Amino acid sequence: MGTANGHGPRAMRVVIVGAGFGGIAAAIELRRKGFEDIVILEQGPGIGGTWLFNSYPGCACDVPSHLYSYSFEQRRNWSRLCSLQSEILDYLRDVARRHGVDRLVRANTTVTGCTWDERRGRWSVEVTDGESIQADAVVFATGQLHKPALPRIEGRESFAGVSFHSAEWDHDYDMRGKRVAIVGTGASAVQIVPEIAPKVGRLEVFQRTGNWFLPRRNRPYPGALRAAVSTLPIVQELRRLFIFYYTEGLTMTIRHPRTLGRLAALRSALFMRSQIRDGELRRRIWPDYTFGCKRVLFSSYFLPALQRPNVEVTTEAITEVRPEGLLTADGRLHEVDCIVWATGFRTHDFVLPMRVTGRQGRTLEQAWGASPRAYLGMTVPGFPSMFLMYGPNTNTSGGSILVYLEAQAAYIAQALCHVRASGAAAVDVKADVEDAADAAVQARFAGTAWEQCASWYRQEDGRIVANWPGYMRDYVAATRVLDAEDYELVPRPEAAPVPAEIAGGARV
Ligand code: NAP
Repeated sequence: MGTANGHGPRAMRVVIVGAGFGGIAAAIELRRKGFEDIVILEQGPGIGGTWLFNSYPGCACDVPSHLYSYSFEQRRNWSRLCSLQSEILDYLRDVARRHGVDRLVRANTTVTGCTWDERRGRWSVEVTDGESIQADAVVFATGQLHKPALPRIEGRESFAGVSFHSAEWDHDYDMRGKRVAIVGTGASAVQIVPEIAPKVGRLEVFQRTGNWFLPRRNRPYPGALRAAVSTLPIVQELRRLFIFYYTEGLTMTIRHPRTLGRLAALRSALFMRSQIRDGELRRRIWPDYTFGCKRVLFSSYFLPALQRPNVEVTTEAITEVRPEGLLTADGRLHEVDCIVWATGFRTHDFVLPMRVTGRQGRTLEQAWGASPRAYLGMTVPGFPSMFLMYGPNTNTSGGSILVYLEAQAAYIAQALCHVRASGAAAVDVKADVEDAADAAVQARFAGTAWEQCASWYRQEDGRIVANWPGYMRDYVAATRVLDAEDYELVPRPEAAPVPAEIAGGARV
């Protein structure tokens, strides 16, 4: 730690927004680097993020737990390949407690805005009760998948029965024997349908676009495997390594749709044909886009569930919602008691609608204009020491987001160590650096499957804003060492200019 300007070292306060996997990783890493004044503001009732909000029947992670867990907190007692929501939530709470960051969480606290105070060289973070918290750095770990998206369909509010979004499941509603509609067939619906189909009276599944499937039974691990994993650390380590490269392989099929992608599509097609015997149903639900363009779904139970006698699949577009149910383009009224909207999330808002105002009174909305973007998905020019986790272009459709979040936590900690050592107020990424990196990220999508259909990864103009274009290992390599030259040091208002040898900075 330096004492440049005669002002450092100093205690820096870091506000983290969000107590999911990202926020907890950031808090743990910052504490390791000696940052003690940390507060985690969480709008929900506690730790968990998406795993707290999503509690629908069948909710599980579709990424194997040996990889969907922190590298520094590996478990050898997972109950199955892809853990259920409650097991993941328990894991995250346990990790937070063991690392002493659970007590940094202020639950039920919604951040409404955040303003860079030029005079003080700090952020002022506003929360709902009108309180304003001063911070030297702000980390937005708010995720991409937490704002439910409800479709704009005429009459949606007029439905007389019970309706809710998959991420806001109404556990008080007893579906047994009821006529239920589920709209959407993405990753959430695919987990819900096999769970509720045997319980409800009648289930109508409304599909707009088909999906590519690969098998996954996800049964509890047999005792022998559990014993081997729990007693021999190498077995667990090898499983993690194998899963890492297996999922990198999935990304490879997406990056190379004409070659490996075709082989993967063939594998998927054979599996799907074996699961759907009825040719007419097969024709109706078959995907009409390149393998991997949307999220590939892993389930051995969804397609069989569609063929249950009490389940019907409708591929006609929904044109209107009426008090009795859903009206489709063929003029048929589907009368139901309950509608589940498994229609995904507003993924392109990122930290919006929080109002974030950076240097010279410029808002994040203004800075982003038509499209959210950030250097390495984390930093935005004009927003000093503001960091995004799981920001633009850091989603993965092949691997585990935890690999990205850990890389981000370590990178953010490096950036703040650099600030602390320099005695400056903050770091601000250089606009030309961000520009060049953004162009390189976008160029890397050329020729990949992601470009070949509309999905939540893309904006309407076709720009891909959610996904990272490469492999997990590329992202880890790109973020491993913070290059201080990518950043300008913002001097503390009361301080003399930052010395050139630090401002120009070597790698930290
Ligand atoms: P999603 O993948 O965005 O799926 C939304 C579904 O709703 C799609 O089938 C979509 O059809 C459909 N839809 C939207 N508007 C519609 C309308 N007006 N009429 C009919 N259908 C409509 O959302 P999700 O299933 O909640 O999953 C979102 C993401 O969350 C996933 O991609 C994944 O990254 C993550 N997730 C992960 C897990 C996990 O296990 N790790 C589990 C669940 C979710 P189109 O395809 O035509 O748009």
